[in-house]
Amino acid sequence: SDVLKLSGIEKIYNRGTAKEIAVLRGLDLAIAPGQVVALVAPSGTGKSTLLHIAGLLDTPDTGEVAIDGEDLGRASDKRRTAARRNSLGFVYQFHHLLPEFTAEENIVLPQLANGVARAEAVSHARSLLERVGLKDRASHRPSALSGGEQQRVAFCRALANKPRLLLADEPTGNLDPATSDTVFAALMDLVRETNLSALIATHNMELAQRMDRVLRLDGGLLRD
Ligand code: ADP
Ligand code: ADP
Repeated sequence: SDVLKLSGIEKIYNRGTAKEIAVLRGLDLAIAPGQVVALVAPSGTGKSTLLHIAGLLDTPDTGEVAIDGEDLGRASDKRRTAARRNSLGFVYQFHHLLPEFTAEENIVLPQLANGVARAEAVSHARSLLERVGLKDRASHRPSALSGGEQQRVAFCRALANKPRLLLADEPTGNLDPATSDTVFAALMDLVRETNLSALIATHNMELAQRMDRVLRLDGGLLRD
């Protein structure tokens, strides 16, 4: 079954007032296991709203949100939080790493919060760091890493709890073009190796073309 399935998603802000704005208008999206989808959305078109709904951080007014076949659009907060922790990984434009912890600890901590034993969490963190070429940076704090290195650590953290779906919002948006390219390649390698599904918002058409499918958000709907 699809890892993410959005059906008939509507989101209207300020309903019934003069400021009413229909951001999503019956949007459908299905992402299969291992499929990587680019989301191209000019600012103001509803990209954040869509990612928040897919990420179970916001609820649609109408429509269904299913993760791995389970309808979670209006499930209890407890169930949605559990699904966010176990099934979803998030990456943003800015790394949001904890500054007082090392790269390795930043990847270990979310696993401990999920009940993984420390030894296993550390070994998984090291293997992720090695895969993105940061084996020798494990004991550095974020401030001692370059922007591209910080972002690669953030990718490892997003994958720490072995999610089914990665949601990324401009994951290389604050890096210079050359760094952006290698860091994006590292992300794609990680995603492919773990057979992860992904929805990756980007303004960079060159990066978008390297994904399995490119969808544009336009008029509250997605188009190829
Ligand atoms: P994007 O991420 O593409 O810039 P957003 O999803 O953040 O778009 O917002 C789409 C539109 O909805 C914008 O016009 C924005 O101002 C409006 N909007 C977003 N969130 C809210 C909200 N909580 N209340 C009212 N309007 C909102
Ligand atoms: P970003 O996408 O930059 O991380 P947000 O998702 O917080 O930021 O907001 C995106 C857009 O939605 C912005 O243009 C913001 O002004 C608008 N927006 C967010 N929350 C509200 C709100 N409560 N009321 C009106 N507009 C909002």
